[in-house]
Amino acid sequence: MTNLTNPHLKPFLGLLMTCCKVYTRIYKTHDGRAFAGHCPRCARPVRVDIVSEGGMSGRFFKAGP
Ligand SMILES: [Zn+2]
Repeated sequence: MTNLTNPHLKPFLGLLMTCCKVYTRIYKTHDGRAFAGHCPRCARPVRVDIVSEGGMSGRFFKAGP
């Protein structure tokens, strides 16, 4: 049983979909290596890879063209 997850880190990511200018939340994938979801308006798939410690500097990210 792995316990590498920070208990204070919520398993979702706030994300700005630049395609539709809306915020959404994407959730951790089963392997815990990325956050994945889709745009709530146009269903564009989005994925944010989780970089090793120190790689993610913010809580909010942008996705889109
Ligand atoms: Zn969209």
